[in-house]
Amino acid sequence: MIPGARLILLGRQGAGKGTQCVRLSRHFVVPHISTGDMLRSAVREGTELGVMAKQVMDAGGLVGDEIMIGIVAERLNRDDARTRGYILDGFPRTVGQALELDRITAERPIDVVLDLDVPRELVLERISSRRVCRDCGTNYIATGREHVPWICDVCGGDVMQRDDDTPDAINRRLDLYEEQTSPLIEHYEKLGRLVVVDGVGTPDGVFTLLTAAVDASRKG
Ligand code: ADP
Repeated sequence: MIPGARLILLGRQGAGKGTQCVRLSRHFVVPHISTGDMLRSAVREGTELGVMAKQVMDAGGLVGDEIMIGIVAERLNRDDARTRGYILDGFPRTVGQALELDRITAERPIDVVLDLDVPRELVLERISSRRVCRDCGTNYIATGREHVPWICDVCGGDVMQRDDDTPDAINRRLDLYEEQTSPLIEHYEKLGRLVVVDGVGTPDGVFTLLTAAVDASRKG
């Protein structure tokens, strides 16, 4: 394994991107750049961006391309991302964002775009039982037998359901995924960068497939 890589993880909401990205970022020793986490931290801090983003996120909508591109461009320009690479989680989400990302990364292009493939019916099931630590973002699956309040094993923060994990917002996000994000699969396929990975298996099994796909793309 060679440390450092420039990766994108695509896939439906609830496909397990967040959890896999945390593991991939440790494995390849690269920063995990999650636009959802960046927006949620702006919401917690109550910044101007956070106030605007909260409304959009709770309704299951998408924050405007220009704002998202600005945030990501700034993040990719920091030393850690420039020297070691990164794994992008939740960006790009529209063709406009992807084209701009191609431009920003023209000198140091993305190594591989992984499409974590999980069918819509299954992600709907997974998101409704998803719970998240509001401090460190660790994901959990609710069984209904947890102690309340539920405390995060990793950092001691509060584990709760995300405000945008309501049935209406989930369905809206999944519709927007089909309309706006799924065309990116063709975009990266044409560029020869796409690898589709079956995301239905166990977390360990999926992680093995993802790391193998990255290693193969760097050898070839
Ligand atoms: P999920 O994958 O479950 O939708 P994320 O944590 O990736 O969750 O994103 C949460 C919300 O943040 C999205 O529903 C959207 O409103 C906003 N968001 C995140 N990334 C982007 C992006 N690249 N473009 C537009 N909106 C975004």
